[in-house]
Amino acid sequence: MSTQPLLEAQDLGYSYRNRGPALADVSFAIDAGVNLGIVGESGAGKTTLLRLMLGLARPSTGRILSNGITLDPGNRTALREYRRFTQAVFQDPYSSLDPRQNVGRIVAEPLRSLRLETGREAIAARVQRALDAVGLSPDATERYPHEFSGGQRQRIAIARAIVPNPRILLADEPVSALDVSTRVRIIDLLAELGHKHAGSPDPLTVVLVSHDLSAVAALCERMLVLERGRIVEQGDTGTVIAHPDHPYTRRLLDSVPRLPRR
Ligand code: ADP
Repeated sequence: MSTQPLLEAQDLGYSYRNRGPALADVSFAIDAGVNLGIVGESGAGKTTLLRLMLGLARPSTGRILSNGITLDPGNRTALREYRRFTQAVFQDPYSSLDPRQNVGRIVAEPLRSLRLETGREAIAARVQRALDAVGLSPDATERYPHEFSGGQRQRIAIARAIVPNPRILLADEPVSALDVSTRVRIIDLLAELGHKHAGSPDPLTVVLVSHDLSAVAALCERMLVLERGRIVEQGDTGTVIAHPDHPYTRRLLDSVPRLPRR
């Protein structure tokens, strides 16, 4: 296995127009097979960081390296290549799925837009594999998003994200719109998708952006804590949770009283 990180953020900074920095001096690396949790309160800079990691905005300072190459949001060809490698799942499974398209078309979308597959049968086979991986039945392809529950819709969104065989899955608060028992099942699914490929040359690595520390503890081997745009702590999840160094991390932990300790 290569020792080069899958993704590396070097001294990232970002400022919105006429505002102080939303991110400053943010550096971290994502290693293959090591899920990363990004936590912080509302306004800490999580969404801004995610936008930079998706190539939707250009950092004001610093850079993001993907397999050693600087991510350039202005380079459409490079961005398409990057998209095949980094896919995302968002918070709201109601607004993220087009209600007029059946699930077969929704899940196939990245294969078409990234020009990875053109043959109908090849597309259908990959869609079926993705649906199977997320625990949806094969006949889901003919149905529409409104026929599914919130948890099932998030499974559809996850199937769409994994269909191009990405190396990184960026999950932005993927369970906060769901009820508690469904949350656990979706976190379990994300853990399973990562671990199934653990040890293979191309494991899927999950980056979970969340204010929910118990989800991070359940899924992520490493975590970093953002406060007002800066990383105040990062390391092994078990260590950070057992021995938080920073007062902000302790406050965050205190607000989650039933967190399982490792
Ligand atoms: P989080 O996702 O952790 O809640 P954000 O990345 O959304 O944090 O926000 C980080 C900071 O950037 C906040 O101070 C927020 O007010 C500011 N911010 C976010 N989006 C914009 C925007 N479009 N224009 C100006 N300021 C913004």
